[in-house]
Amino acid sequence: MSHTATDSEIDAVVDRIDEIGLKAELSRGEERTVIGVIGGNAYAYKDAFSHLGGIQEIIPITKPFKLASREFRRNDTVVDVGGVKIGNDEVVVMAGPCSVEGEEMLLDTARHVAAQGARVLRGGAFKPRTSPYSFQGLGESALKMMAAARAETGLKVVTEVVSPGDVALVAKYADILQLGTRNMQNYALLQEAGRSGKPVLLKRGMSSTIEEWLLAAEYILSQGNRDVILCERGIRTFETATRFTLDLNAVPLVRELSHLPVIVDPSQATGRWSLVGPMSLAAVAAGANGLIIEVHPQPNQALSDGAQSLDFESFDHLMVDLRRLLGAMQKQLA
Ligand code: PEP
Ligand code: MN
Repeated sequence: MSHTATDSEIDAVVDRIDEIGLKAELSRGEERTVIGVIGGNAYAYKDAFSHLGGIQEIIPITKPFKLASREFRRNDTVVDVGGVKIGNDEVVVMAGPCSVEGEEMLLDTARHVAAQGARVLRGGAFKPRTSPYSFQGLGESALKMMAAARAETGLKVVTEVVSPGDVALVAKYADILQLGTRNMQNYALLQEAGRSGKPVLLKRGMSSTIEEWLLAAEYILSQGNRDVILCERGIRTFETATRFTLDLNAVPLVRELSHLPVIVDPSQATGRWSLVGPMSLAAVAAGANGLIIEVHPQPNQALSDGAQSLDFESFDHLMVDLRRLLGAMQKQLA
């Protein structure tokens, strides 16, 4: 719409879109309002708008993902998680154990990472394990422990949901719903998360292209949920020396293609605690909006992902290095 378009002109365009049977997605920016027209071959209907006022131009979004594209929204999306903003110039650190193993270890970790500058507590309650015989997580009791840790430390809570039927339960406790790499193309789960009213942290599928990842985000966005945070967590390559290969190209590329915030999970990506610090710094240097890092009081006793978890001391070193890097970049921690 042109910058002088009136509210009634905007309403008239939205009504016309409804009449045709397409879906309107309004994005009110500072300079102008963009109305996304969603539906198969929507551009073919462009003549139906020729008599309406206030329209500056009608442009086809050429990418297969629409609401996620930079063409739809020029300015960065900033996801506001109860005051913690993800997607602006500040870098958000999320940290905590791979799995919630008990109240004490969770509280210890939460207190520690909060004191070091983390803003979000991670911790799995429902774990998508490769083997059915591995620890599957403590379920709702772990969610309650996460909520208690939030009450004490002020950290926000991110935790994974693995099935559509659990979305309402997890949303009751979590501030951010994590959708894992193994579920990136679980479309029923994406849609349910899209209707949850909670911000969603969408991990990249370990064998997914960037286009497939952004189309997965589109599933969430198309349910009316604008608060999607993308997370690069490593992809499968021929290399077996590390657990996955961190695709750092994805960070600046996705920030070009999309307005959504992008964070990096160096823990899952490398599988080795000694690589987590260097790759965290590299991710931030590449423009990541945040990091999600596994931290455990005693990594060698962890029930999942101990080999890639930082102990408290290594986490402290990382936070010192991160602050120095951010200083050089004239940025800061959120
Ligand atoms: C995790 O964060 O512990 C996890 C299982 O992540 P991913 O889905 O990226 O493997
Ligand atoms: Mn893990």
